[in-house]
Amino acid sequence: MRYLSTRGHSPLISFADMLLAGLAPDGGLYLPEVWPRFSPLEIANFKGRPYGEVAEIVLGELIGDSFSREELQADIAAAYGSFSDPRIAPLSQIAPGSNQSGLYLLELFHGPTLAFKDVALQILGRLFARALKRKGGRATVLAATSGDTGSAAIAALGGLENIEVFVLHPKGRVSEVQRRQMTTTPFTNVHNIAIEGSFDDAQAIVKDLFAETAFARAVNLTAVNSINFARIAAQAVYYFTAASAFDVPPVFVVPTGNFGDVFAGEAAMRMGLPVDTLLVATNANDIMARALNEGVYEAGKAEPTLSPSMDIQVASNFERALFEASGRDARFIRREMGLFAETKRITLPDDVRAALAERYAAARCDDAETLATIARFYKETGRLIDPHTAVALTAAYNLDVPEKVPVVVLSTAHPAKFPAAVEQASGQIPELPPRLKAALEGEEKCHLLGAEKALVRGFIEAKLRTP
Ligand SMILES: *Cc1c(COP(=O)(O)O)cnc(C)c1O
Repeated sequence: MRYLSTRGHSPLISFADMLLAGLAPDGGLYLPEVWPRFSPLEIANFKGRPYGEVAEIVLGELIGDSFSREELQADIAAAYGSFSDPRIAPLSQIAPGSNQSGLYLLELFHGPTLAFKDVALQILGRLFARALKRKGGRATVLAATSGDTGSAAIAALGGLENIEVFVLHPKGRVSEVQRRQMTTTPFTNVHNIAIEGSFDDAQAIVKDLFAETAFARAVNLTAVNSINFARIAAQAVYYFTAASAFDVPPVFVVPTGNFGDVFAGEAAMRMGLPVDTLLVATNANDIMARALNEGVYEAGKAEPTLSPSMDIQVASNFERALFEASGRDARFIRREMGLFAETKRITLPDDVRAALAERYAAARCDDAETLATIARFYKETGRLIDPHTAVALTAAYNLDVPEKVPVVVLSTAHPAKFPAAVEQASGQIPELPPRLKAALEGEEKCHLLGAEKALVRGFIEAKLRTP
């Protein structure tokens, strides 16, 4: 299995090299040269199998010969051994009594940091360390976070050999749970930096440092954000386990920011999985709802909402869906992404819109609706959900589908990660799981830096000299 770039100007590379690189050198995103394909019988056989076995089969095809079956098995066992529910991604039916018997939650928050990013990062970290060891040398992982990505990356990469991890968060603008999840890490290869500025400032510093080619090469800078196809590959697995539980292809409702999670659904479909529709649910930052419903992909100004992990201006992974919808036309992607970089706006051609509409639909939900849905769900079922899940559940409540079609809402975070919004909506304070509570009581370690690229560069260089 080899990987190509959506912009067509990078050499084909193996899964392991793609994993270490993240972004392609021509600025494009990697995808499999050819999608592996599972037969209806193979997919039917996923029904009821343990999650790890399905992961091994699906990832095995995408990994090709980059890792042996034994290596993959060992990493899957270790990655998902850290989850608090042995089913990893359990499907729970919304309690009868809420006249929504065809509605399900796919619970993706049972990993060590209580958000769905663990599902991919736990396995990615282990494969990354393996690939790096074989290649030799060290890697510097640099990430900016508004909360969830940072803690999931730290949980996945903390303690790994030959990898130093630098995570920038905006000082005072992440929740206390999120901050403590990052800063109480016991691992010495993790360096937390609180930036005196906004998330956009932190993100801009990271982008600028990646663009400093000499520095980036000298420290072997890498990213583990959702542009890394290994994350998409790992997330495709739960679409297979969830859909194979039903006799009728389901609708998946996906709370969407960077379009990585929902594109993993497209990946599963392209590998043969029958799915009715991928319903993209956004908060007020609705670039993807506008693109899919109106045909204009235009960046606005990021607005803070109750579902902060979806507060984005640009949905990077949409480039992958555009590449597929255009019939894998790399020249089209180069032209349109060039135009978007300049003008922050592109208009989708009719044939591309039609191809997208074959699998995607989209809906937007504001904060008032998010709170109303948390309250309604609590009233009807006695269960609490987090605000990201609530964005998707709102879209599901408003959906009109035949009764026999199951509707699966991806539940991407544990409610205890966002206690303020949950309490505001329901009057209930969600309990932190005990093992997380204990971890959060450790000593906090964090460095405060001004929002300047040179300060961050200097800090990284000094740490790498004397770790
Ligand atoms: C990251 C995140 C999302 C959005 O996922 P994308 O892949 O960026 O679309 C949704 N919910 C939660 C809780 C997240 O952490």
